[in-house]
Amino acid sequence: MKKFMLLLFFVGCASANNPIQKEMVIKPGEVRWLELELASNNIKLFCRNQPVKFHREGKKIQAVIMESYFSDLTPFNCDFNQGKKTVARILFKVVNREYKAEKLKVDPKKIKLSPVDQARADSEQVVLNKIYSSSLDRFQFSTSFKEPMTSLVTSLYGTKRVYNRQKKSQHLGIDYRAAIGDQVPATNAGKVVYAGDLFYTGWTVIIDHGLDIFSVYGHLSKPLVSEGKFVARGELIGLSGNTGRTSGPHLHWGMKVQGQYIDGFVLIDETKKIFKE
Ligand SMILES: [Zn+2]
Repeated sequence: MKKFMLLLFFVGCASANNPIQKEMVIKPGEVRWLELELASNNIKLFCRNQPVKFHREGKKIQAVIMESYFSDLTPFNCDFNQGKKTVARILFKVVNREYKAEKLKVDPKKIKLSPVDQARADSEQVVLNKIYSSSLDRFQFSTSFKEPMTSLVTSLYGTKRVYNRQKKSQHLGIDYRAAIGDQVPATNAGKVVYAGDLFYTGWTVIIDHGLDIFSVYGHLSKPLVSEGKFVARGELIGLSGNTGRTSGPHLHWGMKVQGQYIDGFVLIDETKKIFKE
């Protein structure tokens, strides 16, 4: 909340020649909510010199800024430009975040995919890339994001996994304890853009929340929505299960923002502050 107030203060003090300047801190795998008021209509937002979509209601501009899990901690700017002129600049300092590691022993056959499985996983990746390449052009929500389950979290976002002391990967979602058939609600309002069976995450539902924010629900026993349906926050979208590559029934919940999986808990915290929930 403090950050938000400060930002408004800076907006108030901006003169015609000096762009509004503000500093914020972000960590790898996290997001920050950006909100400010700008009168001009032809504003474009660039972060790390790349265009970023934002939501607009009158003068109010809202955007979610992400930092990749694989960040090299390089600071960056987000510039609101009007033509060639920068009218507001947010300087992001990137501070490291340590993620825990867990060691797992698994059947080596499950690590190295057979050519058939590899071909399936590769072709599904092409389909997924297409789904993530377009998104609704406005935020579909006006409430905070909410955890899809209230059960025990069995694996946090960002956990580093070392399989059989060699193969390393990262768990870029949040796992909840669940039985086969537990109800899975939507984390926020949006449009169902995928409901199908995938090699890695089994029966999977993907929801587009607008402006390149997607939620993913994996290992379902059954999806209960079809593609194209608009859902409200908390609306039932499927039943938990153990489909795909999993060692037992659980819900895998992922949040993808601007092409990167981020920590859903941070998105919940950031949006709770804004929507005062
Ligand atoms: Zn998971």
